[in-house]
Amino acid sequence: MSEHTITVAGVAVDTRHWIGGERVASTQTFEDVSPIDGSTIGDISRGTAMEAAAAVAAAKAAFPAWAATSRAERARILHAIADGVEKRIEELAIVETTDNGALLRSHRRGVMPRVAHNFRFFADWLLSLEHEDFETRGHSNHVSWDPAGPCVLITPWNAPLMLATWKVAPALAAGNTVVLKPAEWSPLTASLLADIAAEAGLPAGVLNVVQGYGSEIGDALTSHPDVRRISFTGSVPTAKRIAESAAANLTPLSLELGGKSPLLVFADADLDLAVDLAVEQYDNAGQVCLAGTRLLVEESVAEEFTRRFVEKASALKQGDPRDEATDIGPNIHPRQLEKIDGFVQRAVAAGARAVIGGHRGDGQYYVPTLLTDVAQDSEIVQEEVFGPVLTLQTFTDEEEAVRLANGTRFGLAATVFTGDHECAERVTARLVAGTVWVNCFFVRDLQAPFGGSRLSGVGREGGTWSFDFYCDVKNTVTAPSGWRNHG
Ligand code: NAD
Repeated sequence: MSEHTITVAGVAVDTRHWIGGERVASTQTFEDVSPIDGSTIGDISRGTAMEAAAAVAAAKAAFPAWAATSRAERARILHAIADGVEKRIEELAIVETTDNGALLRSHRRGVMPRVAHNFRFFADWLLSLEHEDFETRGHSNHVSWDPAGPCVLITPWNAPLMLATWKVAPALAAGNTVVLKPAEWSPLTASLLADIAAEAGLPAGVLNVVQGYGSEIGDALTSHPDVRRISFTGSVPTAKRIAESAAANLTPLSLELGGKSPLLVFADADLDLAVDLAVEQYDNAGQVCLAGTRLLVEESVAEEFTRRFVEKASALKQGDPRDEATDIGPNIHPRQLEKIDGFVQRAVAAGARAVIGGHRGDGQYYVPTLLTDVAQDSEIVQEEVFGPVLTLQTFTDEEEAVRLANGTRFGLAATVFTGDHECAERVTARLVAGTVWVNCFFVRDLQAPFGGSRLSGVGREGGTWSFDFYCDVKNTVTAPSGWRNHG
Protein backbone atom coordinates (compact mmCIF):
# COMPACT_ATOMS: atom_id res chain seq x y z
CA MET A 1 0.00 0.00 0.00
CA SER A 2 1.37 3.42 -0.90
CA GLU A 3 1.76 6.22 1.64
CA HIS A 4 -1.13 7.87 -0.23
CA THR A 5 -3.56 5.06 0.56
CA ILE A 6 -5.93 5.42 3.50
CA THR A 7 -8.09 2.73 5.05
CA VAL A 8 -11.73 3.72 5.37
CA ALA A 9 -13.82 1.24 7.38
CA GLY A 10 -11.42 -1.48 6.25
CA VAL A 11 -11.39 -0.39 2.58
CA ALA A 12 -8.19 0.88 0.94
CA VAL A 13 -8.75 4.19 -0.88
CA ASP A 14 -6.06 5.99 -2.86
CA THR A 15 -6.12 9.71 -2.06
CA ARG A 16 -4.37 10.80 -5.26
CA HIS A 17 -5.83 11.91 -8.58
CA TRP A 18 -6.20 9.40 -11.39
CA ILE A 19 -4.76 10.89 -14.58
CA GLY A 20 -3.79 9.07 -17.76
CA GLY A 21 -3.97 5.69 -16.03
CA GLU A 22 -1.65 6.70 -13.19
CA ARG A 23 -1.99 7.92 -9.66
CA VAL A 24 -0.76 11.50 -9.37
CA ALA A 25 -0.22 13.29 -6.05
CA SER A 26 -0.49 17.04 -5.52
CA THR A 27 1.90 18.82 -3.23
CA GLN A 28 -1.06 20.17 -1.26
CA THR A 29 -3.93 18.24 0.29
CA PHE A 30 -7.34 18.98 1.80
CA GLU A 31 -8.84 17.30 4.81
CA ASP A 32 -11.77 14.96 4.28
CA VAL A 33 -13.98 14.74 7.38
CA SER A 34 -16.74 12.26 8.20
CA PRO A 35 -20.10 13.89 8.99
CA ILE A 36 -20.92 10.96 11.27
CA ASP A 37 -18.61 12.06 14.07
CA GLY A 38 -16.47 14.87 12.67
CA SER A 39 -13.38 12.64 12.56
CA THR A 40 -10.71 13.10 9.90
CA ILE A 41 -10.89 10.42 7.22
CA GLY A 42 -7.74 11.44 5.40
CA ASP A 43 -5.83 14.05 3.46
CA ILE A 44 -6.77 14.13 -0.19
CA SER A 45 -4.69 15.43 -3.10
CA ARG A 46 -5.78 19.00 -3.76
CA GLY A 47 -5.73 19.71 -7.46
CA THR A 48 -4.67 22.95 -9.11
CA ALA A 49 -4.82 24.27 -12.67
CA MET A 50 -1.80 22.07 -13.39
CA GLU A 51 -3.59 18.80 -12.58
CA ALA A 52 -6.69 20.04 -14.40
CA ALA A 53 -4.63 20.65 -17.54
CA ALA A 54 -2.93 17.26 -17.20
CA ALA A 55 -6.27 15.47 -16.87
CA VAL A 56 -7.74 17.22 -19.92
CA ALA A 57 -4.58 16.45 -21.88
CA ALA A 58 -4.86 12.76 -20.91
CA ALA A 59 -8.52 12.72 -21.93
CA LYS A 60 -7.67 14.40 -25.24
CA ALA A 61 -4.87 11.91 -25.98
CA ALA A 62 -7.10 8.91 -25.20
CA PHE A 63 -10.07 10.19 -27.20
CA PRO A 64 -9.31 9.09 -30.79
CA ALA A 65 -8.73 5.43 -29.87
CA TRP A 66 -11.73 5.23 -27.53
CA ALA A 67 -14.01 6.97 -30.05
CA ALA A 68 -12.88 4.44 -32.67
CA THR A 69 -13.46 1.46 -30.35
CA SER A 70 -16.41 -0.60 -31.55
CA ARG A 71 -19.72 -0.19 -29.79
CA ALA A 72 -19.62 -3.86 -28.79
CA GLU A 73 -16.24 -3.43 -27.10
CA ARG A 74 -17.27 -0.23 -25.33
CA ALA A 75 -20.42 -1.96 -24.10
CA ARG A 76 -18.38 -4.97 -22.92
CA ILE A 77 -16.12 -2.74 -20.84
CA LEU A 78 -19.07 -0.83 -19.36
CA HIS A 79 -20.61 -4.16 -18.31
CA ALA A 80 -17.25 -5.15 -16.78
CA ILE A 81 -17.30 -1.91 -14.76
CA ALA A 82 -20.82 -2.78 -13.60
CA ASP A 83 -19.54 -6.24 -12.57
CA GLY A 84 -16.76 -4.54 -10.59
CA VAL A 85 -19.25 -2.25 -8.86
CA GLU A 86 -21.46 -5.21 -7.98
CA LYS A 87 -18.52 -7.11 -6.51
CA ARG A 88 -17.65 -4.13 -4.34
CA ILE A 89 -21.12 -2.98 -3.29
CA GLU A 90 -20.38 -3.46 0.41
CA GLU A 91 -17.10 -1.54 0.18
CA LEU A 92 -18.57 1.27 -1.89
CA ALA A 93 -21.55 1.53 0.47
CA ILE A 94 -19.54 1.83 3.67
CA VAL A 95 -17.03 4.26 2.15
CA GLU A 96 -19.81 6.48 0.81
CA THR A 97 -21.63 6.44 4.15
CA THR A 98 -18.45 7.31 6.04
CA ASP A 99 -17.76 10.12 3.60
CA ASN A 100 -21.19 11.76 3.19
CA GLY A 101 -23.28 10.42 6.08
CA ALA A 102 -26.16 9.02 4.01
CA LEU A 103 -27.76 5.77 5.20
CA LEU A 104 -25.68 2.62 4.78
CA ARG A 105 -28.77 0.51 4.15
CA SER A 106 -29.87 2.67 1.24
CA HIS A 107 -26.35 2.69 -0.22
CA ARG A 108 -26.28 -1.09 0.00
CA ARG A 109 -29.73 -1.86 -1.31
CA GLY A 110 -30.64 1.06 -3.53
CA VAL A 111 -27.82 3.38 -4.50
CA MET A 112 -24.89 1.09 -5.35
CA PRO A 113 -27.00 -1.41 -7.32
CA ARG A 114 -28.28 1.61 -9.22
CA VAL A 115 -24.67 2.69 -9.89
CA ALA A 116 -24.04 -0.69 -11.53
CA HIS A 117 -27.32 -0.37 -13.41
CA ASN A 118 -26.25 3.04 -14.79
CA PHE A 119 -23.36 1.30 -16.60
CA ARG A 120 -25.44 -1.67 -17.76
CA PHE A 121 -28.28 0.53 -18.97
CA PHE A 122 -26.08 2.78 -21.12
CA ALA A 123 -24.07 -0.21 -22.41
CA ASP A 124 -27.29 -1.88 -23.61
CA TRP A 125 -28.70 1.39 -24.89
CA LEU A 126 -25.57 1.91 -26.98
CA LEU A 127 -26.04 -1.45 -28.67
CA SER A 128 -29.68 -0.79 -29.42
CA LEU A 129 -29.12 2.72 -30.74
CA GLU A 130 -30.55 3.16 -34.21
CA HIS A 131 -30.85 6.33 -36.22
CA GLU A 132 -33.71 7.23 -38.42
CA ASP A 133 -32.71 7.99 -41.99
CA PHE A 134 -34.76 10.38 -44.10
CA GLU A 135 -35.15 10.87 -47.82
CA THR A 136 -35.46 14.22 -49.58
CA ARG A 137 -35.98 14.33 -53.33
CA GLY A 138 -34.13 11.05 -53.70
CA HIS A 139 -31.27 12.11 -51.41
CA SER A 140 -30.73 10.06 -48.28
CA ASN A 141 -30.22 11.89 -44.98
CA HIS A 142 -28.20 9.69 -42.67
CA VAL A 143 -28.14 10.81 -39.04
CA SER A 144 -25.23 9.73 -36.87
CA TRP A 145 -24.21 10.46 -33.30
CA ASP A 146 -20.47 11.07 -33.18
CA PRO A 147 -18.63 11.21 -29.85
CA ALA A 148 -17.98 14.83 -28.89
CA GLY A 149 -14.56 14.62 -27.21
CA PRO A 150 -13.25 15.14 -23.67
CA CYS A 151 -16.06 15.84 -21.20
CA VAL A 152 -15.74 17.52 -17.82
CA LEU A 153 -18.19 16.11 -15.28
CA ILE A 154 -18.62 17.96 -11.98
CA THR A 155 -20.68 16.46 -9.18
CA PRO A 156 -22.04 17.32 -5.71
CA TRP A 157 -21.73 15.51 -2.37
CA ASN A 158 -25.29 14.45 -1.65
CA ALA A 159 -25.28 11.31 -3.84
CA PRO A 160 -21.67 11.24 -5.04
CA LEU A 161 -21.21 7.99 -6.95
CA MET A 162 -24.79 7.72 -8.11
CA LEU A 163 -24.75 11.19 -9.70
CA ALA A 164 -21.23 10.78 -11.07
CA THR A 165 -22.04 7.52 -12.86
CA TRP A 166 -25.27 8.94 -14.23
CA LYS A 167 -22.90 11.15 -16.25
CA VAL A 168 -19.81 8.93 -16.63
CA ALA A 169 -21.73 5.95 -18.05
CA PRO A 170 -23.43 7.72 -20.99
CA ALA A 171 -20.36 9.87 -21.69
CA LEU A 172 -18.15 6.77 -22.01
CA ALA A 173 -20.80 4.76 -23.85
CA ALA A 174 -21.05 7.52 -26.45
CA GLY A 175 -17.29 7.22 -27.07
CA ASN A 176 -16.11 10.25 -25.12
CA THR A 177 -13.32 10.52 -22.60
CA VAL A 178 -13.94 12.00 -19.19
CA VAL A 179 -12.47 14.18 -16.47
CA LEU A 180 -14.54 13.68 -13.33
CA LYS A 181 -14.32 16.26 -10.52
CA PRO A 182 -16.07 14.95 -7.39
CA ALA A 183 -17.16 17.28 -4.58
CA GLU A 184 -14.51 18.09 -1.99
CA TRP A 185 -16.79 17.01 0.87
CA SER A 186 -17.15 13.45 -0.50
CA PRO A 187 -14.36 12.55 -2.93
CA LEU A 188 -13.68 8.91 -1.99
CA THR A 189 -15.95 6.74 -4.13
CA ALA A 190 -14.76 8.50 -7.32
CA SER A 191 -11.29 7.20 -6.48
CA LEU A 192 -12.68 3.67 -6.05
CA LEU A 193 -14.49 4.02 -9.38
CA ALA A 194 -11.14 4.76 -11.04
CA ASP A 195 -9.77 1.49 -9.60
CA ILE A 196 -12.82 -0.45 -10.76
CA ALA A 197 -12.70 1.03 -14.27
CA ALA A 198 -9.00 0.20 -14.60
CA GLU A 199 -9.60 -3.37 -13.45
CA ALA A 200 -12.42 -3.63 -15.99
CA GLY A 201 -9.97 -2.81 -18.78
CA LEU A 202 -10.95 0.79 -19.51
CA PRO A 203 -7.90 2.17 -21.37
CA ALA A 204 -5.68 4.71 -19.66
CA GLY A 205 -6.86 8.31 -19.99
CA VAL A 206 -10.47 7.44 -20.88
CA LEU A 207 -11.59 8.17 -17.31
CA ASN A 208 -9.61 10.66 -15.25
CA VAL A 209 -10.44 11.84 -11.74
CA VAL A 210 -9.19 15.12 -10.30
CA GLN A 211 -9.97 16.20 -6.77
CA GLY A 212 -9.96 19.59 -5.15
CA TYR A 213 -11.92 22.71 -4.38
CA GLY A 214 -14.17 23.90 -7.16
CA SER A 215 -12.98 27.46 -6.57
CA GLU A 216 -9.37 26.39 -7.18
CA ILE A 217 -9.64 23.85 -9.98
CA GLY A 218 -13.05 24.53 -11.54
CA ASP A 219 -12.23 27.36 -13.93
CA ALA A 220 -9.20 25.54 -15.33
CA LEU A 221 -11.47 22.63 -16.26
CA THR A 222 -14.51 24.51 -17.51
CA SER A 223 -12.68 27.14 -19.59
CA HIS A 224 -10.34 24.64 -21.23
CA PRO A 225 -10.54 24.87 -25.04
CA ASP A 226 -10.12 21.10 -25.50
CA VAL A 227 -13.19 20.29 -23.43
CA ARG A 228 -16.21 19.55 -25.63
CA ARG A 229 -18.93 19.04 -23.02
CA ILE A 230 -19.50 20.06 -19.41
CA SER A 231 -22.08 18.29 -17.31
CA PHE A 232 -22.66 19.75 -13.87
CA THR A 233 -24.86 18.82 -10.96
CA GLY A 234 -24.86 21.24 -8.05
CA SER A 235 -26.04 24.63 -6.92
CA VAL A 236 -27.34 27.56 -8.94
CA PRO A 237 -24.53 30.03 -8.03
CA THR A 238 -21.85 27.52 -9.11
CA ALA A 239 -23.77 26.81 -12.32
CA LYS A 240 -23.74 30.51 -13.20
CA ARG A 241 -20.01 30.64 -12.59
CA ILE A 242 -19.45 27.58 -14.78
CA ALA A 243 -21.64 29.00 -17.55
CA GLU A 244 -19.51 32.17 -17.58
CA SER A 245 -16.33 30.13 -17.73
CA ALA A 246 -17.68 27.82 -20.47
CA ALA A 247 -18.72 30.84 -22.51
CA ALA A 248 -15.06 31.37 -23.43
CA ASN A 249 -15.32 28.44 -25.85
CA LEU A 250 -19.12 28.16 -26.10
CA THR A 251 -18.75 24.68 -24.61
CA PRO A 252 -22.16 22.98 -24.43
CA LEU A 253 -23.43 22.59 -20.88
CA SER A 254 -25.83 20.37 -19.07
CA LEU A 255 -26.90 21.77 -15.70
CA GLU A 256 -28.80 19.78 -13.06
CA LEU A 257 -29.45 22.24 -10.27
CA GLY A 258 -31.43 22.86 -7.15
CA GLY A 259 -35.14 22.72 -6.46
CA LYS A 260 -37.94 23.86 -4.21
CA SER A 261 -40.41 21.29 -5.35
CA PRO A 262 -44.06 21.27 -4.34
CA LEU A 263 -45.93 18.24 -3.01
CA LEU A 264 -49.65 18.80 -3.53
CA VAL A 265 -52.26 16.94 -1.51
CA PHE A 266 -55.87 17.26 -2.68
CA ALA A 267 -58.72 16.47 -0.30
CA ASP A 268 -59.69 13.32 -2.24
CA ALA A 269 -56.17 11.83 -2.01
CA ASP A 270 -55.22 8.63 -0.23
CA LEU A 271 -54.09 10.49 2.87
CA ASP A 272 -52.03 7.63 4.32
CA LEU A 273 -50.03 7.38 1.11
CA ALA A 274 -49.62 11.15 0.93
CA VAL A 275 -48.40 11.30 4.54
CA ASP A 276 -45.99 8.37 4.05
CA LEU A 277 -44.41 9.94 1.00
CA ALA A 278 -44.42 13.43 2.52
CA VAL A 279 -42.40 12.12 5.46
CA GLU A 280 -40.00 10.52 2.97
CA GLN A 281 -38.97 14.03 1.94
CA TYR A 282 -36.69 13.97 5.00
CA ASP A 283 -34.64 11.19 3.38
CA ASN A 284 -30.89 11.77 3.24
CA ALA A 285 -31.45 14.41 5.93
CA GLY A 286 -33.27 16.51 3.33
CA GLN A 287 -30.21 16.69 1.08
CA VAL A 288 -32.04 15.60 -2.06
CA CYS A 289 -32.44 17.94 -5.01
CA LEU A 290 -35.82 16.42 -5.94
CA ALA A 291 -37.29 16.63 -2.45
CA GLY A 292 -40.83 17.97 -2.27
CA THR A 293 -40.02 20.49 0.42
CA ARG A 294 -43.17 22.57 0.03
CA LEU A 295 -46.20 20.65 1.25
CA LEU A 296 -49.32 22.21 -0.29
CA VAL A 297 -52.40 20.70 1.29
CA GLU A 298 -56.08 21.36 0.55
CA GLU A 299 -57.54 23.35 3.44
CA SER A 300 -60.29 20.86 4.31
CA VAL A 301 -57.82 18.04 5.09
CA ALA A 302 -54.88 20.11 6.32
CA GLU A 303 -55.52 19.53 10.01
CA GLU A 304 -55.86 15.77 9.62
CA PHE A 305 -52.86 15.60 7.27
CA THR A 306 -50.73 17.57 9.75
CA ARG A 307 -51.78 15.36 12.66
CA ARG A 308 -50.84 12.17 10.82
CA PHE A 309 -47.65 13.73 9.43
CA VAL A 310 -46.46 14.84 12.86
CA GLU A 311 -47.20 11.41 14.34
CA LYS A 312 -45.21 9.66 11.62
CA ALA A 313 -42.32 12.15 11.42
CA SER A 314 -41.90 12.17 15.19
CA ALA A 315 -41.28 8.43 15.10
CA LEU A 316 -38.31 8.76 12.71
CA LYS A 317 -35.08 7.59 14.26
CA GLN A 318 -32.21 9.97 13.84
CA GLY A 319 -28.69 8.71 14.43
CA ASP A 320 -25.67 6.86 13.11
CA PRO A 321 -26.26 6.18 9.39
CA ARG A 322 -24.45 2.84 9.68
CA ASP A 323 -27.17 1.57 12.01
CA GLU A 324 -29.88 -0.41 10.15
CA ALA A 325 -32.61 1.15 12.29
CA THR A 326 -31.67 4.74 11.51
CA ASP A 327 -33.99 6.78 9.28
CA ILE A 328 -32.14 10.09 9.21
CA GLY A 329 -28.39 10.58 9.40
CA PRO A 330 -26.25 13.67 9.86
CA ASN A 331 -25.96 16.66 7.55
CA ILE A 332 -22.83 16.80 5.49
CA HIS A 333 -20.79 19.59 7.09
CA PRO A 334 -20.91 22.13 9.94
CA ARG A 335 -21.23 24.88 7.31
CA GLN A 336 -24.30 23.18 5.82
CA LEU A 337 -25.81 22.81 9.28
CA GLU A 338 -25.31 26.49 9.98
CA LYS A 339 -26.93 27.35 6.66
CA ILE A 340 -29.96 25.17 7.45
CA ASP A 341 -30.37 26.64 10.92
CA GLY A 342 -30.00 30.15 9.53
CA PHE A 343 -32.94 29.55 7.18
CA VAL A 344 -35.09 28.16 9.99
CA GLN A 345 -34.31 30.86 12.54
CA ARG A 346 -34.95 33.64 10.01
CA ALA A 347 -38.25 32.00 9.08
CA VAL A 348 -39.31 31.75 12.73
CA ALA A 349 -38.30 35.37 13.32
CA ALA A 350 -40.51 36.29 10.35
CA GLY A 351 -43.53 34.56 11.94
CA ALA A 352 -43.26 30.89 10.94
CA ARG A 353 -44.28 28.23 13.50
CA ALA A 354 -42.22 25.08 13.96
CA VAL A 355 -44.79 22.30 14.34
CA ILE A 356 -41.91 19.86 14.83
CA GLY A 357 -38.17 20.50 15.08
CA GLY A 358 -36.92 24.01 14.42
CA HIS A 359 -33.49 23.44 15.93
CA ARG A 360 -30.25 21.47 15.74
CA GLY A 361 -29.81 18.09 17.34
CA ASP A 362 -26.55 16.76 18.79
CA GLY A 363 -23.40 16.82 16.68
CA GLN A 364 -24.01 17.33 13.00
CA TYR A 365 -27.71 16.50 13.07
CA TYR A 366 -30.68 18.74 12.39
CA VAL A 367 -34.03 17.77 13.89
CA PRO A 368 -36.63 17.14 11.14
CA THR A 369 -38.61 20.34 10.92
CA LEU A 370 -42.05 21.31 9.67
CA LEU A 371 -42.84 25.02 9.42
CA THR A 372 -46.32 26.46 9.00
CA ASP A 373 -47.58 30.06 8.81
CA VAL A 374 -45.18 30.83 6.00
CA ALA A 375 -45.83 33.41 3.29
CA GLN A 376 -45.42 32.49 -0.37
CA ASP A 377 -42.90 35.27 -0.93
CA SER A 378 -40.85 34.46 2.20
CA GLU A 379 -37.28 33.23 1.99
CA ILE A 380 -38.14 29.82 3.48
CA VAL A 381 -40.69 29.16 0.72
CA GLN A 382 -38.58 30.57 -2.09
CA GLU A 383 -35.05 29.30 -1.38
CA GLU A 384 -33.60 25.79 -1.33
CA VAL A 385 -32.58 24.84 2.24
CA PHE A 386 -31.04 21.40 1.46
CA GLY A 387 -31.72 20.04 4.92
CA PRO A 388 -34.60 18.26 6.74
CA VAL A 389 -36.89 21.28 6.62
CA LEU A 390 -40.36 21.28 5.05
CA THR A 391 -42.97 24.01 4.90
CA LEU A 392 -46.74 23.52 4.87
CA GLN A 393 -49.18 25.84 3.14
CA THR A 394 -52.84 25.32 2.38
CA PHE A 395 -54.95 25.96 -0.72
CA THR A 396 -58.67 26.10 -1.30
CA ASP A 397 -58.96 25.18 -4.99
CA GLU A 398 -57.01 23.89 -7.97
CA GLU A 399 -56.24 27.35 -9.23
CA GLU A 400 -54.57 28.35 -5.99
CA ALA A 401 -52.74 25.00 -5.76
CA VAL A 402 -51.16 25.50 -9.18
CA ARG A 403 -50.33 29.13 -8.47
CA LEU A 404 -48.52 28.25 -5.23
CA ALA A 405 -46.82 25.21 -6.81
CA ASN A 406 -45.42 27.24 -9.70
CA GLY A 407 -44.63 30.26 -7.55
CA THR A 408 -40.86 29.95 -7.19
CA ARG A 409 -37.90 30.39 -9.55
CA PHE A 410 -37.33 26.62 -9.61
CA GLY A 411 -38.91 23.84 -11.65
CA LEU A 412 -37.21 20.54 -10.87
CA ALA A 413 -40.02 18.24 -9.73
CA ALA A 414 -43.56 18.18 -8.40
CA THR A 415 -45.67 15.51 -6.72
CA VAL A 416 -49.46 15.37 -6.80
CA PHE A 417 -51.75 13.28 -4.61
CA THR A 418 -55.35 13.04 -5.75
CA GLY A 419 -57.99 10.38 -6.22
CA ASP A 420 -59.34 12.14 -9.29
CA HIS A 421 -57.74 11.19 -12.58
CA GLU A 422 -59.06 14.29 -14.36
CA CYS A 423 -57.78 16.62 -11.64
CA ALA A 424 -54.35 14.95 -11.98
CA GLU A 425 -54.37 15.53 -15.74
CA ARG A 426 -55.41 19.17 -15.45
CA VAL A 427 -52.91 19.97 -12.70
CA THR A 428 -49.89 18.09 -14.10
CA ALA A 429 -50.40 19.81 -17.45
CA ARG A 430 -49.97 23.17 -15.76
CA LEU A 431 -47.07 22.41 -13.41
CA VAL A 432 -43.65 23.76 -14.34
CA ALA A 433 -41.32 20.85 -13.54
CA GLY A 434 -38.94 18.44 -15.25
CA THR A 435 -40.50 15.47 -13.42
CA VAL A 436 -44.04 15.18 -12.08
CA TRP A 437 -45.13 12.25 -9.92
CA VAL A 438 -48.77 11.37 -9.40
CA ASN A 439 -49.57 9.32 -6.28
CA CYS A 440 -45.95 8.15 -6.12
CA PHE A 441 -42.48 9.54 -5.61
CA PHE A 442 -38.90 9.00 -6.84
CA VAL A 443 -39.66 6.29 -9.39
CA ARG A 444 -37.98 6.86 -12.74
CA ASP A 445 -36.96 4.84 -15.76
CA LEU A 446 -33.45 5.61 -17.01
CA GLN A 447 -34.85 5.91 -20.53
CA ALA A 448 -36.96 8.88 -19.47
CA PRO A 449 -35.69 12.46 -19.55
CA PHE A 450 -34.44 13.99 -16.33
CA GLY A 451 -33.72 17.64 -15.66
CA GLY A 452 -35.16 20.89 -14.47
CA SER A 453 -36.92 23.96 -15.79
CA ARG A 454 -36.25 27.59 -14.85
CA LEU A 455 -33.35 27.85 -12.34
CA SER A 456 -33.42 24.08 -11.77
CA GLY A 457 -31.38 23.42 -14.84
CA VAL A 458 -30.59 23.46 -18.50
CA GLY A 459 -31.09 20.40 -20.67
CA ARG A 460 -32.26 16.87 -20.02
CA GLU A 461 -30.35 13.63 -19.53
CA GLY A 462 -31.44 9.99 -19.69
CA GLY A 463 -31.76 7.59 -22.64
CA THR A 464 -31.69 9.41 -25.96
CA TRP A 465 -31.36 12.79 -24.25
CA SER A 466 -27.97 11.75 -22.80
CA PHE A 467 -26.70 10.62 -26.19
CA ASP A 468 -27.93 13.82 -27.80
CA PHE A 469 -25.94 15.79 -25.23
CA TYR A 470 -22.74 13.73 -25.24
CA CYS A 471 -22.57 13.47 -29.05
CA ASP A 472 -22.19 15.70 -32.04
CA VAL A 473 -25.26 14.84 -34.04
CA LYS A 474 -24.43 14.76 -37.73
CA ASN A 475 -26.60 14.54 -40.83
CA THR A 476 -24.91 13.15 -43.94
CA VAL A 477 -26.86 13.82 -47.10
CA THR A 478 -25.97 11.65 -50.09
CA ALA A 479 -27.08 12.22 -53.64
CA PRO A 480 -29.22 9.57 -55.34
CA SER A 481 -27.25 6.68 -56.79
CA GLY A 482 -26.27 7.29 -60.38
CA TRP A 483 -25.83 11.01 -59.77
CA ARG A 484 -22.10 10.81 -60.60
CA ASN A 485 -22.91 9.57 -64.09
CA HIS A 486 -25.20 12.46 -64.94
CA GLY A 487 -23.76 14.72 -67.51
P1 NAD B 1 -21.95 23.15 -5.31
O1 NAD B 1 -22.45 23.91 -6.47
O2 NAD B 1 -21.40 23.89 -4.16
O3 NAD B 1 -20.79 22.14 -5.75
C1 NAD B 1 -20.99 21.16 -6.74
C2 NAD B 1 -19.67 20.84 -7.40
O4 NAD B 1 -19.21 22.00 -8.08
C3 NAD B 1 -18.56 20.43 -6.43
O5 NAD B 1 -17.81 19.40 -7.02
C4 NAD B 1 -17.73 21.69 -6.34
O6 NAD B 1 -16.37 21.47 -6.03
C5 NAD B 1 -17.84 22.21 -7.76
N1 NAD B 1 -17.53 23.63 -7.93
C6 NAD B 1 -17.63 24.63 -7.03
N2 NAD B 1 -17.24 25.80 -7.57
C7 NAD B 1 -16.89 25.54 -8.86
C8 NAD B 1 -16.41 26.32 -9.95
N3 NAD B 1 -16.21 27.63 -9.83
N4 NAD B 1 -16.16 25.71 -11.11
C9 NAD B 1 -16.36 24.38 -11.27
N5 NAD B 1 -16.80 23.58 -10.28
C10 NAD B 1 -17.07 24.15 -9.09
O7 NAD B 1 -23.15 22.21 -4.88
P2 NAD B 1 -23.21 21.23 -3.62
O8 NAD B 1 -23.41 22.04 -2.41
O9 NAD B 1 -22.07 20.28 -3.69
O10 NAD B 1 -24.53 20.39 -3.95
C11 NAD B 1 -25.80 20.77 -3.52
C12 NAD B 1 -26.58 21.35 -4.67
O11 NAD B 1 -26.65 20.41 -5.73
C13 NAD B 1 -28.01 21.66 -4.28
O12 NAD B 1 -28.39 22.89 -4.84
C14 NAD B 1 -28.79 20.53 -4.95
O13 NAD B 1 -30.14 20.80 -5.22
C15 NAD B 1 -28.00 20.31 -6.19
N6 NAD B 1 -28.27 18.99 -6.75
C16 NAD B 1 -28.99 18.89 -7.91
C17 NAD B 1 -29.29 17.65 -8.45
C18 NAD B 1 -30.07 17.54 -9.74
O14 NAD B 1 -29.99 16.50 -10.36
N7 NAD B 1 -30.82 18.53 -10.16
C19 NAD B 1 -28.87 16.50 -7.79
C20 NAD B 1 -28.17 16.63 -6.61
C21 NAD B 1 -27.86 17.88 -6.09
